[in-house]
Amino acid sequence: MEKKDTAIHMPKTDFPMKGNLNQREPEFYKKWEDDKVYENLLEKRKKENAPSYILHDGPPYANGNIHMGHTLNKVLKDIVVRYRSFKGYYSPYVPGWDCHGMPIEHKVAENLGSRAKTMTKPEIRRLCHEYAMKYVKLQGDQFKRLGIMGDWENPYLTLNKEYETKMVDIFWEMYKKGLVYRGLKPVYWCCRCETALAEAEVEYADHKSTSVFVKFKIKDDSKSKAKPGKDTYVVIWTTTPWTLPANVAIALHPDFDYAVYEGAGEKYILAKGLKTQFEEKTGISGLKEISVFKGKDLERAVCQHPFVDRDSLVINADYVTLETGTGCVHIAPGHGHEDYVAGLKYNLQILNPVDACGRYTNEFEMMKGEHVFAANEKIVELLKEKNVLLAQEQITHSYAHCWRCKSPIIYRATNQWFISMEKDNFRAQALNEVKNVKWFNEWGEDRITKMISGRPDWCISRQRSWGVPIFVFTCKDCGESIVTEKTIAKVRALIKEEGSDGWFKHSAKEILGDDCKCPKCGSDNVDRGSDIFDVWFDSGASSFSVLETRDDLSWPADLYLEGSDQYRGWFQSSLLAAVGFKGKAPYKSVISTGWVVDGQGRAMHKSLGNVIDPLSLIKKGGADLLRLWVASEDFTTDQPISDEIMSRVTDSYRRIRNTFRYMLSAVNDFKKEDMVPYEELSSFDKYALHKMQVLLDSLDNYYENFEFYRVYREFSNFCSLFLSSYYFDVLKDRLYTFKSDGKQRRGAQTVIYKMLINLTKAIAPVLAFTADEVWQFIPQELRNESHIQLEKWTVEKEPLLDAQTVEEWETFNKLRDAALKKIEDKRKEKLISHPYEAVVNIKYASAKLDRILKKLSKEEVEQMIIISGVSYSPAEKLEEKEWDFGLEITASKSEGIKCERCWRYVDAVGKDSEYPGLCSRCVENLG
Ligand SMILES: [Zn+2]
Ligand SMILES: [Zn+2]
Ligand SMILES: [Zn+2]
Repeated sequence: MEKKDTAIHMPKTDFPMKGNLNQREPEFYKKWEDDKVYENLLEKRKKENAPSYILHDGPPYANGNIHMGHTLNKVLKDIVVRYRSFKGYYSPYVPGWDCHGMPIEHKVAENLGSRAKTMTKPEIRRLCHEYAMKYVKLQGDQFKRLGIMGDWENPYLTLNKEYETKMVDIFWEMYKKGLVYRGLKPVYWCCRCETALAEAEVEYADHKSTSVFVKFKIKDDSKSKAKPGKDTYVVIWTTTPWTLPANVAIALHPDFDYAVYEGAGEKYILAKGLKTQFEEKTGISGLKEISVFKGKDLERAVCQHPFVDRDSLVINADYVTLETGTGCVHIAPGHGHEDYVAGLKYNLQILNPVDACGRYTNEFEMMKGEHVFAANEKIVELLKEKNVLLAQEQITHSYAHCWRCKSPIIYRATNQWFISMEKDNFRAQALNEVKNVKWFNEWGEDRITKMISGRPDWCISRQRSWGVPIFVFTCKDCGESIVTEKTIAKVRALIKEEGSDGWFKHSAKEILGDDCKCPKCGSDNVDRGSDIFDVWFDSGASSFSVLETRDDLSWPADLYLEGSDQYRGWFQSSLLAAVGFKGKAPYKSVISTGWVVDGQGRAMHKSLGNVIDPLSLIKKGGADLLRLWVASEDFTTDQPISDEIMSRVTDSYRRIRNTFRYMLSAVNDFKKEDMVPYEELSSFDKYALHKMQVLLDSLDNYYENFEFYRVYREFSNFCSLFLSSYYFDVLKDRLYTFKSDGKQRRGAQTVIYKMLINLTKAIAPVLAFTADEVWQFIPQELRNESHIQLEKWTVEKEPLLDAQTVEEWETFNKLRDAALKKIEDKRKEKLISHPYEAVVNIKYASAKLDRILKKLSKEEVEQMIIISGVSYSPAEKLEEKEWDFGLEITASKSEGIKCERCWRYVDAVGKDSEYPGLCSRCVENLG
């Protein structure tokens, strides 16, 4: 008789232990592109008539390299989209970019230096376009490097013609509803450059100003709760006396204490907390307190303007402080942003008696032609003359200056375009739509509700070049703004054909042709407007510009997922644009992320030196580690990252990778026809499948609810706690030494195969690269699709065990742990060196444990504890008590001989003369 091969069945796989992700991921991505994985996936789902799930991408700004915020944002979206695809949805992902706006225009101007002044708007716009496209490409490649799957060949850009064309429709619809109007709003203004400045163009430097204390006489206290009387003065303090001609109100903090004081033969109202300071500055000493009231009690009292025939209303504002002055703040809505916002609330007049060069106009006749800074002294003289000046002094303070000419700048009200929150019940409509959206963050609905409730009208115009023009013409003769059905049709055709560049290239006459006529005065002296849209209007239009214009998408979106700053930004601008255009919210649900912070929870800042660059992390360890990090924390709160955190994530990754590697190696000689039917599996294998199914169900649930950190935690635990340190350990004996195609070994392989397929799919939304890498190592015959992305999560579930059986297994696991501890003790005592040298005796009086042990064969129990022998000593009288009732476990050294093949120490070694070193089980299992 020929001697049989006694070698054990060693597991084997070529799947590398080390990922080398940093080098190999780009190859994987290229393969996805070459194999058109994204396109094929969508095609496949379309054929299946799959329901769609649209995550609409919020466009990042096309400027600079990607940072950790982008990384968190894009990976989360990718996890959602991949999950939905696995669940059988048609879930396209169309990435987008916000391409217009000041930062790009600013960069381009900076690069041009003095040449910028000699260039035309179309020329500047061309450079801005190039600049944006450069970063679209750069960031696109960086996003792909993160493994983000989507339509990168054809992203949406806010500078695309189709995109801009849709903006014409939205604007027109809102215009028709009466939501769009022209009004005054203060902007930063440089009198020397004669231009409005954006926030980013303003620098702060020390500046000398004259500050004044001015008294405003109360004229009417009938509408206020407090009645200080008409002979009382409200005292204001200001560092810009030149803005006093535009004063229309005085703001008090609603909750501060104010008092009427008597001194110098007059009565003054000021904040109690500033009395001493007031006495020092004015030299009026010994003020006597007459009465005290809250700021809100004086609301609606009316004062007389000190030198103009005009009322000045007492209002309340929360931004009033007690730092300096009187706690009563002079309000000129035409000359300050906070003043302006307060003015909107009280419907105050916005006065701007100052021209583009900074000179008073005839609106302030008294000093017409006077430059405002030079006028300060004259105003002080005037105040003295009118006997309303209580004190003056020179102060040096930080003041806004022009970034270009370094001159001090002013706030000046100019004509802007607005979307009214009140017309057509717009605010109420928007608030109502908020209620129809599912806000995943507990506080999300409350936050956006508060923001929409409290926001002023939306100023949609900017005086810049790089953006979409506001589609309005103006009559140069009568000043009328011209927007009609006819002009809009012409503009729409123009934008569709040439994009918004067309607007800047052609004259009004060229654009409008015969319709170039003012409907008010009939003049054909018409100009196109020079304002462009606020970029938030651009991106706010995206739900229509993108979802409605592309065949693969549909409106409204199922989900918006962005940083928590977008309640103020994109969530809101998108909602307003959608309610204005369609009367409906653009999304069905919204979830927001926190910030990426450092290990100590601090925001990342260049100045703190704690900025972590995703690109260098990718270079170091690969994108899948970053993706795993994204999944590792609850993203709805702030998400920390540090070297220490990354090294923890790396450890988890290694354990997960090793788990997959082991599974691949264990099924290396397994084929589909080797599959053992469920009924024929051992009870332990059924238990393992039960555990897997419970895990898969909860992971599904976690993905669905955006609890990716739970996916991460439970998946890692399952791999390391159940699989690596229990199930796989137990299976080794069966896999390595049992008959290669016997039911016991094939049964184990059946379970491992199912786990391999299902667990790879389950983590694939997170570990996009690794999962597909694993997939490629699964023999073709054992999988369906060429790439894992094309797969679906298995609909057919493994049977779950009944609750009692599960509980019995849990009890058995406790017994096992107790036995392992005893064996470990013996190993520490150096009585044995390997668990297989041990045999265990279990003494118990629990009827429950008796029932559990009787369901298992001794061989099974030995296999599960990984020992060479087990014996039981049940008490004579078993009782229904705790499972560990009377439990005593003793481990001792086996008296058997070590089998060369299976390493167990059993009596049955040497029974076969052919194979003297083997146990009889091994002899039986040979071949
Ligand atoms: Zn300037
Ligand atoms: Zn006209
Ligand atoms: Zn053996």
